[in-house]
Amino acid sequence: MKNQPAVEIFKLFLKNGKNRITSERFEVLDAVIEYQGHFGADDLYIQMKNRKSSVSRATVYNTLELLVQCSLVSKRNFGDNMMRYESNLKKQKHDHLICVDCGRIVEFTNPKINALPDEICNEMGFKIESYSFNIFARCNNTKACKHYKNKS
Ligand SMILES: [Zn+2]
Ligand SMILES: [Zn+2]
Repeated sequence: MKNQPAVEIFKLFLKNGKNRITSERFEVLDAVIEYQGHFGADDLYIQMKNRKSSVSRATVYNTLELLVQCSLVSKRNFGDNMMRYESNLKKQKHDHLICVDCGRIVEFTNPKINALPDEICNEMGFKIESYSFNIFARCNNTKACKHYKNKS
């Protein structure tokens, strides 16, 4: 499964940045597009390995960084010292709610939050690059929370 617009964006980005255009890098892009949800670089590497890919761990890591630079992928930090990534292709912009007990991640969009970073940048004389908005909370429903499930 190839996503043609993404391939073109990445190719152009690599060319403009004088980065080498290698088939391994596009293999990583394909794997990113297929991956459901949020993942660490190692999660992606292991999934590719399981599918008999010969792409090295180092290539997965540095290709992810390149994909972040050209905005095809977002970097997420959910407060547990583990960098996670997610593809920007299938989904609209969203923010995250994270359960501090079980680590469940829920995505949401809210027009007020979407407008706020621009508003603040305009007021302060900045041009926005990116923003992150995470809410750390606890599942209300203890049955839905893995943390409590494991205890009982
Ligand atoms: Zn997300
Ligand atoms: Zn929970």
